[in-house]
Amino acid sequence: MSFQEHSTNPCEDPGAVTGRIHSIETYGTVDGPGVRFVIFTQGCPMRCLYCHNPDTWDPKGGTVMTVEELLARYESNKSYYRKGGITVTGGEPMLQMEFLTVLLEEAKKRGIHTCVDTAGICFREGDVKFMYWLNRMLRATDLVMLDIKHMEDDIHKRLTRHSNGPVLAFARYLDQNGVDMWIRHVIVEGYTTGAEEQQALGYFIGGLKHVKALDVLPYHSMGKAKYKALGMPYPLEHLYDLPEEKAVAAKREILTGIRKKRAEMAKNS
Ligand code: SF4
Repeated sequence: MSFQEHSTNPCEDPGAVTGRIHSIETYGTVDGPGVRFVIFTQGCPMRCLYCHNPDTWDPKGGTVMTVEELLARYESNKSYYRKGGITVTGGEPMLQMEFLTVLLEEAKKRGIHTCVDTAGICFREGDVKFMYWLNRMLRATDLVMLDIKHMEDDIHKRLTRHSNGPVLAFARYLDQNGVDMWIRHVIVEGYTTGAEEQQALGYFIGGLKHVKALDVLPYHSMGKAKYKALGMPYPLEHLYDLPEEKAVAAKREILTGIRKKRAEMAKNS
């Protein structure tokens, strides 16, 4: 990796650095390779219509925990994770960059495989302080799982209330710096079911050299009960869970886009 170094030298005692944690899953099997200790951080600026964890949104909620406390929980079951490691997800883990960095650096010192599952929305290339933490964090990260929600900015805004600009810029940044990525994309009827959109996503991914896997997931309404419990209206009340075949068909279209981009690149090289 070729990340730019910065001169900041903050105090970083793992027993003192704290993060806001929504919950912990001790036996995660879908958030990275192998069996994983999954840390769900609290706070997310996005408002995805299909989010099934709206209870993670409030950045002031959750439980305050130190890096040391989290790693002690990992260590107490570490025989489970021999072929896995730690995944930090959310919420949006990059909302707490200093905490995330110290956590992953400390995990790396202990030889743990590390993965960050993010929507990339916090990426701000012009922010020196953010980039200082990001570059350090990435040096301690083996894998980034990145959600790309939509290629069309207007629809991305309708889906998440945010522009996709930072997300796509983050994907490019990871690629330029040789960070392994798994891309994830959720198929939602009426939003991401168009073949044109799916191929556009594939075309974008095809231009990235460090994408190691593509996960295409059908929309499900599992989060509905949480909205009810929180007294919030569920934004996709009218939608049914999407059958798996729709995700399989979407993945085919995305792969078509990837092949198209790669063929163009091969022709021009
Ligand atoms: S980025 Fe993830 S946690 Fe945040 S609103 Fe979207 S789905 Fe929910």
